[in-house]
Amino acid sequence: MAKLLTESSVSLSHSNLQLAKEQAALARRIMLRFNIRFGPSLRRFTCRGCKSLLVPGVNARVRLGHGRPTIIRVTCLDCGHVTRRVVNQP
Ligand SMILES: [Zn+2]
Repeated sequence: MAKLLTESSVSLSHSNLQLAKEQAALARRIMLRFNIRFGPSLRRFTCRGCKSLLVPGVNARVRLGHGRPTIIRVTCLDCGHVTRRVVNQP
């Protein structure tokens, strides 16, 4: 259910960001209450700085690094927190 809420809030964010954030916060509360861990796909949409919904193109800026290994930098446009993710390519 929480996964469903997060997914729908991500799609909702393109039309109504405020409502989407509230829905994401609700999904987060549900997951905390029932002690459900964020899956890797869900974690991608959550800012580690302000814990709010993070949607690339809406309130997040995604940049690719040029070195090796490839690093993806996701910048939260709400609080400015930068999340770095290493992409393991063969
Ligand atoms: Zn943030």
